[in-house]
Amino acid sequence: MTEPDQDPRLDQILDLMIQFASGDMKARLKPSPARDTIDAIITGFNLLAEELDLMYQNLEARVAERTKLLRRAQKDLELLALTDSLTGLANRTLLGDRIGQAIVRSDRDALPPAVLMLDLDEFKYINDSLGHGAGDGVLREIASRLRSTVREIDTVARLGGDEFAIVMPDVTEEGALLVAHRALTALQDPIVLGDNSIQVTASIGLRFGMRGLSADDLLRDADIAMYEAKGEGKGKVQVFEPSMHRASVQRLQMVSELRQAISDGQLSLRYQPIVRLADGRIVGAEALIRWDHPTRGLTLPNNFIALAEESGLISDLGQWVLRTGLADLAQWGATVPDLGEFALHVNITATELRRHGLIDHVQRILDDFGTPPSRLALEVSGSTMITGDVSAMQALVELKELGVSIEIDDFGTGYSSIAYLRELPVNAVKVDKSLVAAIGKDDAQNAFVRAVLQLIESVGLRAIVEGIETANQVGELLRAGAVYGQGYYFSMPVDARQIAGLLAADLPLHGRDQRESTSR
Ligand code: C2E
Ligand code: MG
Ligand code: MG
Repeated sequence: MTEPDQDPRLDQILDLMIQFASGDMKARLKPSPARDTIDAIITGFNLLAEELDLMYQNLEARVAERTKLLRRAQKDLELLALTDSLTGLANRTLLGDRIGQAIVRSDRDALPPAVLMLDLDEFKYINDSLGHGAGDGVLREIASRLRSTVREIDTVARLGGDEFAIVMPDVTEEGALLVAHRALTALQDPIVLGDNSIQVTASIGLRFGMRGLSADDLLRDADIAMYEAKGEGKGKVQVFEPSMHRASVQRLQMVSELRQAISDGQLSLRYQPIVRLADGRIVGAEALIRWDHPTRGLTLPNNFIALAEESGLISDLGQWVLRTGLADLAQWGATVPDLGEFALHVNITATELRRHGLIDHVQRILDDFGTPPSRLALEVSGSTMITGDVSAMQALVELKELGVSIEIDDFGTGYSSIAYLRELPVNAVKVDKSLVAAIGKDDAQNAFVRAVLQLIESVGLRAIVEGIETANQVGELLRAGAVYGQGYYFSMPVDARQIAGLLAADLPLHGRDQRESTSR
């Protein structure tokens, strides 16, 4: 297509442009010695190509840099998704992955993996009393101690809160047990954080490896065994056995039924009058919860309060009791001309005391019903756990300041010393029925009951004696200086309407000897 007399450089320029267009920015054209206009154009193209090439290279470099950054971010994200940020241990996802790998390997040339689940005993008290900073410090220290107890191929994970797990690939039962006991030992030395020296213990559940079990199976079984270990007391190792499985399923079932019961109105309250022993006058009533189970029938609290505590339902349950009880009390106040010194006694567990917001909650319910705080007494059970527990003690102090009466329930069972009564901010003591049952057996028992009553009085507290069933017991208790009491002798636990009737009748309760017959 070239015209005969055309400057050949024009063709060369055309070629150059074609090369550029195809992406070859390295192509160049040498200007001729003529240095005329066409050479000027050639030089211009060369410069342009130079410029474009540079820009292109920059872009490449930037893309490469970006890609690298993106890759690193991706890695960080993956790590973040697989590790626990507080301790740097593996998290649940990574743990599951490692268990999976260990299972795959055990199909070929290794033993199936064992899984260990570890939960700190009473970690929440560390958090509550020393603050979350200290709690974090404790968790980090535990993480590092656990890491030092395992083999290179084992993985230590934190599953959240104060729960840890270890997967041990290719391990014998003896080997796994050894790690479990080493882990307990590793926690024995106190953890020193600033001025505090903190002693921790843990409960451990261990699932030995077995062919055919999935990662989920292993984790679930180790968890079940861990709960068994907790039930055995602090600092125990429990190896999973299939029989535990059924118990745990039943427990779960009952928890969900109890949750249902609270919202479905299967719960009700009975009230047992508390009387002045000398004249049988009613001075109060204790609210006692009952569960009318659709198939099991009337269930007594000893069969479900502990479960409510373990499952965290206790706080819903406690709120229901308080609200229902105070509603009934308001009703009695509206129908009876003068309630006198009458107080409603409500049971509360030490666990509830530790709950944040309890004081506000009690205050709110009292306000809702316009009930003076002096009409409410809280009976604290499981109170031996309270001493040394800063947040529970604080709650007691605040409740007492509110004007609510605080009573220690079940006094005389387990560990109950007078020093301890002096330490707690309380108004009264409920003397346990086991002490009363011993009255009249022999002189030594009578003397013992008398001593307990005197001790309570000596620290300036009121005693209310529970479980009085006979006239003989009443007589002996009066001689021992007891002032208040309750029991089947005076009245069984009855419903709210019957209490209203008793209060309206305004008659002293003089009992007849009897044994419990309402409940099974
Ligand atoms: P508690 O607070 O020591 O209550 C006294 C228990 O003794 C009640 O059992 C009552 O029915 C029973 N009782 C009363 N008089 C006599 C008697 O003369 N002889 C004998 N042998 N027993 C008598 P109940 O109602 O089965 O309650 C058992 C425990 O369950 C209570 O012991 C209390 O610790 C707990 N509880 C009951 N209601 C509640 C509640 O609403 N919340 C919480 N957290 N715990 C509750
Ligand atoms: Mg009680
Ligand atoms: Mg009691």
